[in-house]
Amino acid sequence: MPRIENDIKLDFKDVLLRPKQSTLKSRSEVDLMRSYTFRNSKGSYRGIPIVAANMDTVGTFEMALALSKFTLFTAIHKHYSVDDWKEFATKNPECVPCMAVSTGTGEGDFDRLGEITAAVPQLQYICVDVANGYSEHFVKDVRLKYPTHTIMAGNVVTGEMVEELILAGADIIKVGIGPGSVCTTRKKTGVGYPQLSAVIECADAAHGLGGHIISDGGCTCPGDVSKAFGAGADFVMLGGMLAGHSESGGEVIEKNGKKYKLFYGMSSDTAMKRHAGGVAEYRASEGKTVEVVYKGPVDVTIRDVLGGVRSTCTYVGAGKLKELSRRTTFIRVTQQLNTVFGNDN
Ligand code: 5GP
Repeated sequence: MPRIENDIKLDFKDVLLRPKQSTLKSRSEVDLMRSYTFRNSKGSYRGIPIVAANMDTVGTFEMALALSKFTLFTAIHKHYSVDDWKEFATKNPECVPCMAVSTGTGEGDFDRLGEITAAVPQLQYICVDVANGYSEHFVKDVRLKYPTHTIMAGNVVTGEMVEELILAGADIIKVGIGPGSVCTTRKKTGVGYPQLSAVIECADAAHGLGGHIISDGGCTCPGDVSKAFGAGADFVMLGGMLAGHSESGGEVIEKNGKKYKLFYGMSSDTAMKRHAGGVAEYRASEGKTVEVVYKGPVDVTIRDVLGGVRSTCTYVGAGKLKELSRRTTFIRVTQQLNTVFGNDN
């Protein structure tokens, strides 16, 4: 008989952060930098732990350049050639510590990863991506070949899968199945997990073993980024919030005098046609394609996100991002926004 879990699982929209007494006078006093030492690679990290997603139109070299100025991180999408990598790393060596190379789990992927890491030896981060995180064997192989690289792997949503991936050699586990802005997994498969609860449970499992997690997907506004950190995420990955900018891939499209950019899921028809010659017969696409209003340079959005997270910290009395989850009490709500004038701002 199928089992039903009756514990309530929550999304970002289901909660707000409870304000707490604070002695902080200004947002400018808040320190968003974090320093981590990773469990398996023993590598060390310092920066503001917000990560651009390894999606075609988000994880671009242009995005990495813009974000690295704020010490933010970029998981580069997997469609750059070895020569592209070599050229970029030669011209922008200061940016490389803020970048991860992404890989799938196919045979060709392992070879390509070898070529890129050989061409760019300063590259320290490898992001291993499969939709449902059953990548343990691949992670073990990557760990064997790359003992000192920091490995991000996912995606998973349960504590036991987090533990398995960490024990297989991963350092940072990507958490999130189904919450993404252009993801249709929940609709196509009925599978998923509310993101806030996934982060709380997976962070607990990872931290127990000395590992780290990335909350991946589902952030729609700066408040959601704060909620993900409050829930225990060490890093927060953004796709849709960084789409539609000058640094995002793709052309600007003009329609009725308004400018847009194309944004699509990595397993959408658009991505599969572009990279794999169409959707394979045995699988349905699990991503959609949308036109996002063109927003100009990404640094305006980044300032908005960082300003929001700093402000959260002052409301709950956290002088540092590091203290945010300790100062977090979530309250369940039935409504978080007043939408009388629309939902946009
Ligand atoms: P967002 O920040 O846009 O809400 O979520 C970004 C995340 O959505 C990505 O980092 C990735 O994990 C996930 N994602 C991207 N493309 C697809 C897709 O086509 N299908 C699914 N299921 N997830 C996707």
